[in-house]
Amino acid sequence: MNYDQLIPAWIRALGGYAAGKPIKTALRESGGTAMIKMASNENPFGPSPRALTAMQAAAADVYLYPDMEVTELRTRLAALHGVPPQQVLVTSGSTQFLMLLGRALLQPGLNAVTSERSFIVYPLATRATGAEFRAVPMKNDAFDLDAVLAAIDDNTRLVFLANPNNPTGTLFDAEATDRFLERVPAHVTVILDEAYCDFAEFFAARKGIRYSHSMDYVRAGRNVVVLRTFSKAQGLAGIRVGYGLGPEELLHFCNRIKTPFSVSAMAEAAAVASLEDGEHVRRCVENNAAGAAFLLKSLREMGYQPVETFANFIYVDVGEDSAAVARRMEAEGIIIRPLKPWGAPSAIRVTIGTPEQNELFVRALRKVMEKAAVR
Ligand SMILES: *Cc1c(COP(=O)(O)O)cnc(C)c1O
Repeated sequence: MNYDQLIPAWIRALGGYAAGKPIKTALRESGGTAMIKMASNENPFGPSPRALTAMQAAAADVYLYPDMEVTELRTRLAALHGVPPQQVLVTSGSTQFLMLLGRALLQPGLNAVTSERSFIVYPLATRATGAEFRAVPMKNDAFDLDAVLAAIDDNTRLVFLANPNNPTGTLFDAEATDRFLERVPAHVTVILDEAYCDFAEFFAARKGIRYSHSMDYVRAGRNVVVLRTFSKAQGLAGIRVGYGLGPEELLHFCNRIKTPFSVSAMAEAAAVASLEDGEHVRRCVENNAAGAAFLLKSLREMGYQPVETFANFIYVDVGEDSAAVARRMEAEGIIIRPLKPWGAPSAIRVTIGTPEQNELFVRALRKVMEKAAVR
């Protein structure tokens, strides 16, 4: 069969998702015996013990299909954020929500706008629909909101704003978002991707910055979708659960095209239990801030200029082919993320780990970079 004739050109042209290397793969390739993953912004402390207990309890019922409307979790999220349940949609990770928004609003001839060096699901969610993907240059490793505005035209339907941004860790404040939304045309849906909000809130408060009041836009019925996830601060990346809040009518159509039963009962149980353990998230967020300070200081001592982070990872240009650096780090037992797929071939992103992991990372990086200098 010649699939060239059958598969649309825009599907054939799709690039893959550049995921962090799984621990087992890295162990096999390096021949080592121990491996730490600091490549995918996962929570190094794992989920709340309450979430683990809830998943165990839910496991006995996996012969039953889950609740398609994810009612219990959705109701709790609605109450938590002060919006009606119709303005909440739970998905299999917020990645699924991004794909749904693309399918609901885009088609060939239309376009979506974001920044370069942002989340790699944005081009996928756009191009999978045959729409054009526009990524404007950054300013100081951060979103340039004026440039994003300038790239919007009559055919723009979506704008993706990652705040904080992955992989650079930068943030734009509540006032900047307000000014942006005042100037965005009515036919454009703005996605405020707040996957790292728990970390950002903490850093911003310390620095006297107002992070975000995105729920006000949702409550006011603005053409905005706020995305949140249980994958990062809540430590549930593997069970796949995220959600979005936005206009009821738009969410209704996203729900229509959502793969039925894509949020499992175990995922729902884990998320509900996780919401009840704010203390766990608080401890993780505090550890993250201490780890960020340690890593930034260590990297600066090594002569690098890491970007100040508002999330649970650090972006740093190491001045040489970062894929090679990542391979040498794996030989030392640490997986990091080289950022060539983001168009930054000499930059890496490292997830902030436990205090021990951060120490091991710094020691390993010193070793592999010194070796390189000698060579
Ligand atoms: C990790 C991340 C997400 C969340 O992905 P899930 O599908 O919920 O695991 C969303 N947006 C950004 C920018 C991220 O970095």
